[in-house]
Formats: sequence, C-alpha cells, structure tokens
Amino acid sequence: MAEYTVYPSLRGKTVLITGGAEGIGAAAVELFCQQGSKVILFDISEPSATALIDRIKKQAEGLPEGQSWRPAITPPIFYQCDVTDLDRLKSLAEQTIDEHGPIHVLINNAAAAGAKSRVPSTEVTPQVWEMDINTNLRHIMFLTQYIVPSMQKLGSGSIINMGSITWRIPAVGLPVYTMCKAAIMGLTRTHSKEFGKDGVRVNSVMPGAIATERQRKEVLTPEYRAEVMAAQSLQRDLLPEEVARVILFLASDDSSAVTGSSYVVDGGWVSDP
Ligand code: NDP
Repeated sequence: MAEYTVYPSLRGKTVLITGGAEGIGAAAVELFCQQGSKVILFDISEPSATALIDRIKKQAEGLPEGQSWRPAITPPIFYQCDVTDLDRLKSLAEQTIDEHGPIHVLINNAAAAGAKSRVPSTEVTPQVWEMDINTNLRHIMFLTQYIVPSMQKLGSGSIINMGSITWRIPAVGLPVYTMCKAAIMGLTRTHSKEFGKDGVRVNSVMPGAIATERQRKEVLTPEYRAEVMAAQSLQRDLLPEEVARVILFLASDDSSAVTGSSYVVDGGWVSDP
C-alpha cells in the first residue's frame, strides 16, 4: 500500500455507503477503511461484498510496522440490501443507527443501467420508468430521510450523492437513467438548503467515463474508448480510486465550507457543472 493523504477528521467516523461492493463505491470503501473510518456497506451483491471484505482484511493484516501516520484498518460491515426495497432500506437504516450510533457520512452511490434500461424514449414502458427511478433516484430521497435526523442531532454530517456527467452529455439510449442523474443535482441543492442550518453538508460527484471492472467489460469497447479519449482532455483511463478520492475530500472536514456543490470528475470532458 502506497502512502496516501490522511484526513484526521475521518478517523473513527461512521460512513454508510450504498452499492459499495464494486466499482467506484468499492474504491471508496477501501479508502475510508484506510482512514480508520467504520464503514457500513449496503449492497445487493453478497459475493462482491465478501470479496471486497476479504481484500480489505488482507490489507489490514499486511500493514507494515512503525508507520504511526497510518490508521488501523477495520473491514467494512456488510448488510445485503436492494435499495429499491424501501421497507428493508428503512429497517436496515434504523438497525444500523441502533447498533453503530449516528452516521457521520452518507454516500448515496447505488445505481444501475442494465440492458432493460437501454431503450430509446419511444420505447420506455411504465415498468422501465419505475425500475430506473427506483434504482437510481428514489432511494436517495428516502435513505437520506432515514439517516439525516441522526446527523441533525449531532449538528454535523456530510452527504454525497453520486450523479453523472450524463446530465450535460446525455447518455442517448438511457433516457430514464440520464433523467435521474439530472434530478440528483436538484435534490442535492434542495437538501443542502434544507439541512445546512443543522450543519449537514450535501454535495454530489459527477463522474465521466470511469474504467471500473464493469465498464471495461460492458461499455468501454475500443470504439467507445476512442470516442471518450477524443472528448477528454486527459488522454488516459480514469480510475475508480480517482473518483473515490474526491468523495473522501467531500466527506472530510477539509471541505467544511462546501455544500450544494457538484464535483465533475471526468478528465476534462465537460468543464463546468
Ligand atoms: P458498479 O456497477 O461498478 O457497482 C455498483 C454496485 O451497486 C454493485 O455492487 C451493484 O451490484 C450494486 N447495486 C446495483 N443495484 C443495486 C440495488 N438495487 N441495491 C443495492 N445495490 C445495488 O457501479 P459504478 O462504480 O460504475 O457506479 C457508481 C456510481 O457512479 C453510480 O451512481 C453510477 O451511476 C455513477 N457513475 C459511474 C460512472 C462510471 O463510468 N462507472 C459514470 C457516471 C456515473 P450488482 O453488481 O449485483 O449489480
């Protein structure tokens, strides 16, 4: 493990992340664990979560001696959860607060755009509409609603919603996903206004094309990758860790004056939010 930025304000903090078993979320889980945060992971995929936890346990065991700057690593605590199931999401949120105390950082990261979502607007059925909204948007409103009272009681908290640059450069063929990602910006701004008086900050992160394992397999074909390179200023793949580092900054007290903002992490594809 290389040296990395340590945020003292994240040590011992409880971080709840959805969809963190793979991709950008998994990179964030690893980085928060390296900060000495207590990470709670809600994800639909048990095998991916187990693999991630095993990886982090190995990192914890392999920590070199005599590096006092490096916090001790605690592997994440996993709860299997489909974020579209609001009853389960609510009961798990309550259970998490009962068992682990208030949540300091909430990362609304879970999203999916599978084959059924890839249709032109003329072919969107009410079922696709509902599935996409429930997977990509609805849980953000409700998990925030379940968690924010514990932050308000503390008088502090950081909520990070995962958007996408698709709101600026529409993902043609993914109309409902694209719409949800645009809505997340509005929700982020609204929540930042509603919760700011209680010391709770709300920001969003908008990635461009990030070379996660899934994107490499399913989306970043040589042709599409060439299109991305032509659009980006940086002529290389962007890594999940590079997005996760922005998430860490927004979670930490180093961004204490930042709320209602949207951070574009796209290697210079679109230049402004
Ligand atoms: P991945 O697809 O790599 O990982 C998402 C994780 O969420 C997986 O473990 C997945 O499980 C899980 N998940 C999916 N649906 C649900 C659900 N209903 N309930 C709980 N967990 C679920 O995602 P990325 O890292 O690519 O994306 C993370 C965030 O960043 C998302 O909000 C995405 O929209 C956004 N983003 C990503 C970009 C990219 O290029 N990667 C670009 C722009 C935005 P399973 O594997 O079983 O589906």
